[in-house]
Amino acid sequence: MSDLLSQKLYLASDLTDGEFAILIESDSFDEELRRLADLVRRSYYGTDVYVRGLIEISNYCRNDCYYCGIRRGNHFVERYRLTRGEILDCCRIGYELGYRTFVIQGGEDTFYSDEMICEIVSAIRELYVDCAITLSLGERSYRSYKSFFDSGANRYLLRHETADSEHYVKLHPPEMSLDNRKRCLFDLKRIGYQVGSGFMVGSPYQTTQNIIADLRFLQELQPAMVGIGSFISHHQTPFSNFRSGDLKLTLRLISILRLLFPYSLIPATTALGTIDPVGRELGILAGANVVMPNLSPVNVRKKYELYDNKICTGEEAAECRHCLTRRIASIGFNIVTNIGNVKEMKDKCS
Ligand code: SAM
Repeated sequence: MSDLLSQKLYLASDLTDGEFAILIESDSFDEELRRLADLVRRSYYGTDVYVRGLIEISNYCRNDCYYCGIRRGNHFVERYRLTRGEILDCCRIGYELGYRTFVIQGGEDTFYSDEMICEIVSAIRELYVDCAITLSLGERSYRSYKSFFDSGANRYLLRHETADSEHYVKLHPPEMSLDNRKRCLFDLKRIGYQVGSGFMVGSPYQTTQNIIADLRFLQELQPAMVGIGSFISHHQTPFSNFRSGDLKLTLRLISILRLLFPYSLIPATTALGTIDPVGRELGILAGANVVMPNLSPVNVRKKYELYDNKICTGEEAAECRHCLTRRIASIGFNIVTNIGNVKEMKDKCS
């Protein structure tokens, strides 16, 4: 039965809610899902895996998301923010290591005004014309997003976290809203960004129906990038006692996402590498095609702890880069250092 469902998903890139529920809740047919997801990925991207250099510019955050280690309410966090010069240094090191995408990520830190972000983006754009600039700085106004885009940013990552409004309020404080999250995502698309969204797998109170709502929302949004990672508890959050997300379910969902969005860029996330020593390799085998090694200065890495035991917090950028190249090669894939834009349907290899 589920084998037929995998086939249907492969051929039609869609299923009914009931069919999705069967696939999500059963592990019997993971092998077939993985096989088909790999087939689809190879037809669009071959064995290429794109690298993105991640620069975590600040762990200050005005938000208080119940799951996140750098939430405003965590008074044990030693806060830091990078200067424009430090960010540009990270880009220089990254460029020398072959990175052609920089991901500027941070908590929602109001210290960085629109003007400051525009200045940073313009400086990177001027120095590295052949690179993509991805921002992941949370919720801002249409005007702000537009000014960043006009300064040279091309991509924006903003996970919707959960598309079910009742689930959303269980994960976030009352001042945050799913409607605003969605508004941001559609604004970003309208402006012309390549948009990435996604959700945590196994977040507290998540149900199969919530995950199906996530898939439906992504179908509506049609993002260029879809990032999912297992929820991992952080000991200084209200969710410290919740169990972390399941590796197998995360991998199954990566395969499902590959079949739903054949063209998409799907990262094998750091969270995946944290819940299993070879989690990122398994993510690639399940259909992912992006990795995001850390380019942040080593002295701040540990402070950007979204969840417990986050990996790669002690290594220099070059070590991270080479370690990932080896890991990806060991499973028969190859790291590609070009800009790695999303492919359109027409770009299919075969
Ligand atoms: N502030 C930006 C935003 O909200 O998009 C970017 C930074 S935010 C910390 C990046 C992502 O980390 C979130 O979208 C969330 O899915 C993920 N994250 C936060 N806490 C996590 C946890 N405990 N386990 C797994 N992922 C987590």
